[in-house]
Amino acid sequence: MSDEAAREDEAPQEPRMRITKGTPWRIDDGRRAKWSTPEFVRQHALDIRQVGDPALHRPALRPSLSRADLEALIARMFASMLQANGIGIAAPQIGVPLRVAIIDVDEAGIVAIEPVIDEVTEEVEETREGCLSVRGFYGMLERPLGARLTATDPAGRRFSIEGEELGAQCMLHEADHLNGTLYIDRLRSREDLHPVRPDETEEVGA
Ligand code: ZN
Repeated sequence: MSDEAAREDEAPQEPRMRITKGTPWRIDDGRRAKWSTPEFVRQHALDIRQVGDPALHRPALRPSLSRADLEALIARMFASMLQANGIGIAAPQIGVPLRVAIIDVDEAGIVAIEPVIDEVTEEVEETREGCLSVRGFYGMLERPLGARLTATDPAGRRFSIEGEELGAQCMLHEADHLNGTLYIDRLRSREDLHPVRPDETEEVGA
C-alpha cells in the first residue's frame, strides 16, 4: 500500500493496530533483527509474484505444516517483504498457496494464519493503495476506516487485532490476497488506477 503521507509522519500518536485478544507469537525485535540482516534477506527472499500469476488469483488453502516448516515459510515471507519494502505480505505472493499473512504496519510483526475479518466500520475513506504484486501502480478506492481480524498464530493460539486507517487497510488487503483478490479487483473503474510517476517513489506496499 502506498502511504507517503503516513510515512512522513514518523511519530504516529496512536498505534494504528493493536492486539485486542490473546498474546500471539510475533516477529519480535530479536527475530526482526536476525531476519533483517542483508545476508539473511539475500538467502531467504524470493521474487514477489506479479498480477497475472495464477498463484495470486485463486483462494489459498488451510496450511498443514509442521511448526518448523511454518516458521521457515514466515522467515521467507518476511525477507521477501523487506526486500520489496513492504508493510505486509501474503504467502501466495511468493507462490505458496497457503492462508498465511504478515501484517507489519508500524512494525507490528503480526503473523496471521487463516485470518478472518470479523468486523469493519461502516465509515469508509477514499484511500490510496498499492501492492507489491502490482508494481508501478497505485489505486484509489474506498476502504472501511476500521477493521478487526481474528486468526491463529504459528503456535495455534487464537488472537484478534484491531486497526484504524492504514492498520485496517493492511488487514483487509492481506485477507483479500488469501481469497485470490487484489485491490485492482475492487476498483470502481480503470480510471482509478494510476501509474506511479517517475518522481514518486513507491514507498510502501503489501
Ligand atoms: Zn498486495
